Amino acid sequence: MSDKENVTKEEYLQQNIEKSRFKYSKRRSFTHASIAVLITGYAAYLIFIHSMEHVFSYIFLGVLIFSHIADEFIGRKNYNNNKKLLIACKVGLMASVMLFGATFGLHSAAGMICMAVYVLYYLEYIECIEFTNTEVRDGAAVAMAAIFAGCYIIIPLLLRFKLPIIETTIFVGIICIAFYSLIHRLYYYMDRYVSHITYLNRENLELESNNTSLNEQSHKIKEVIDLLGVQKIELSKANETINKQNAGMALHNKILGFVSAEVDMVKFSEKVVEALIESGDLKAVGMFIDALMRCEVNPLICSRISNKTRNRKSSKELEEIFNSKAEDILKEVHYFDDNYITDNGTLPELYKFLQDAGVKSLLRIQILTEGGMCGALILGSEKADFFTEESKQLYYSIATQIGIAVRNANMYATMENLATRDGLTGIYNRRHFNKLFSDYVTDAIENKAPLAVALFDIDKFKNVNDTYGHSFGDMVIVSVAQTANREVNKHGGILGRYGGEEFMMAFYDMDVEGIMPIVKKIHEDIKSTELTHNGEIVKINVSIGVTAYPSICAKTEDLLNHADWAMYYSKLHGRGRITVDSDEVIADSIGNTEKYKPQG
Ligand code: GH3
Ligand code: MG
Ligand code: MG
Repeated sequence: MSDKENVTKEEYLQQNIEKSRFKYSKRRSFTHASIAVLITGYAAYLIFIHSMEHVFSYIFLGVLIFSHIADEFIGRKNYNNNKKLLIACKVGLMASVMLFGATFGLHSAAGMICMAVYVLYYLEYIECIEFTNTEVRDGAAVAMAAIFAGCYIIIPLLLRFKLPIIETTIFVGIICIAFYSLIHRLYYYMDRYVSHITYLNRENLELESNNTSLNEQSHKIKEVIDLLGVQKIELSKANETINKQNAGMALHNKILGFVSAEVDMVKFSEKVVEALIESGDLKAVGMFIDALMRCEVNPLICSRISNKTRNRKSSKELEEIFNSKAEDILKEVHYFDDNYITDNGTLPELYKFLQDAGVKSLLRIQILTEGGMCGALILGSEKADFFTEESKQLYYSIATQIGIAVRNANMYATMENLATRDGLTGIYNRRHFNKLFSDYVTDAIENKAPLAVALFDIDKFKNVNDTYGHSFGDMVIVSVAQTANREVNKHGGILGRYGGEEFMMAFYDMDVEGIMPIVKKIHEDIKSTELTHNGEIVKINVSIGVTAYPSICAKTEDLLNHADWAMYYSKLHGRGRITVDSDEVIADSIGNTEKYKPQG
């Protein structure tokens, strides 16, 4: 940076005033020299026309000239370092002017007062004295010019041109000098004005440079703001990720809560699927679990399609399609033993229907237990490329939780089964059947509802055991139980293993007309089942007894006995048949008790 920038405006102007002082010093010298010549000439004229008695005046005039010359030659050289001498010269000059005026009368004294004013101004100009108020100083300069004009133009005019030629010449000369001084002064002001302009230009340049640096700063600030903007975006992305992770954790915890609190798998699956849909990211969720127990035939099916659909089919319709595909999905997932993902919006054939729900990304996850795959979790999102590594990990972990829940449910069911179900066939044991049956009875009496009962026993089963072995006999018992169970479940009844190869079934709110087709179907299915032993087809048949409360059997406590007597009737009358309870049947059976003893 240049020195200029370290200088204040006042200092700068002062420097320029100094410069202009010297610049105009020649003119000033000329002014003073001219005054000296004019005064000397006037003095010579006075000496010529006046007598020696004015000698004191001449001496003072000499002092005046001397002091003026001294001012020019000594003062100018030394005014910076010898101000006392200069002041002495000027004081002498002033004193001379006063005495000169006093000597030559009022007319000359007026002129000399003007001189004094001029000198006073001159003294200030070289800083021998300082006007603190520049207006006073400038006013003095103007007054000087006015008084000059007054003294040397107006007074002579008032004297009506009676001045002698020499004096007039001198006065005119002095007027010229005064004007010259005035012009000199104007130049001086102009110079100061130029200095101002120069300073303003310099300030302008500084402002421009400041402006440039401000522009640079603003550019930098803009860059910083841009950077902050980028950081803000990154922060909001990080925030979004954290929020997602939090939401994932919350979902995970929620499902973990279901795992530990819900033993009913149907309710569990509904809650899990609901929670996944409510998490907001998924459009479609399907959870399908293989039949939990051996005696259950249907898989556990639960699916949800988010309500916010913009498709032709309703969510309900799509859910039905989803559920209907459960078995195929389970088979497919069993077949492809890996997790599968599609992100590009084109779904595999089996899941094509989900496109109607706007699903673009699909994730298929196996649900595993220690026994292997036990189900599938199907997740669909409306967004393409939705399943990132992170979100997949979340859903895999949820699938693991579901696996744990399935395992828990299995364990719970196993424990429950130990108490309630028969170990060989998986259907209810006699004790539990009796408990459930007694509930049916209570409800039937309370609600005046019918209750249908059937009992059947495998015919000539001892022969099966004897001919094909005990373990084949076990297989026969299991096969008969499964066949009967399928039908009984279908119609909402209960089935129990009542004895070795004897089974009991009951249907609440069903009369004999209701139970007969079911019993017939079971009978037909058992008869048509072909079990093979060493390539030999073994046919099985059963004898069945049927009764119903209150249409046939009026007392609920007689139901099982009556069914047994009816079954006994079937045994007595050729086996492999169905007998409906009646008084005759009972009488016939009772009459032959030695042949067959009912177990009820
Ligand atoms: P009926 O036509 O009169 O019923 O002739 P049956 O030979 O079947 O006679 P019954 O019903 O009295 O025979 C029951 C036999 O079933 C006796 C027993 O050895 C056999 N049994 C009972 N429980 C089991 C079992 O769990 N496994 C096997 N393999 N056999 C059993
Ligand atoms: Mg038998
Ligand atoms: Mg038997």
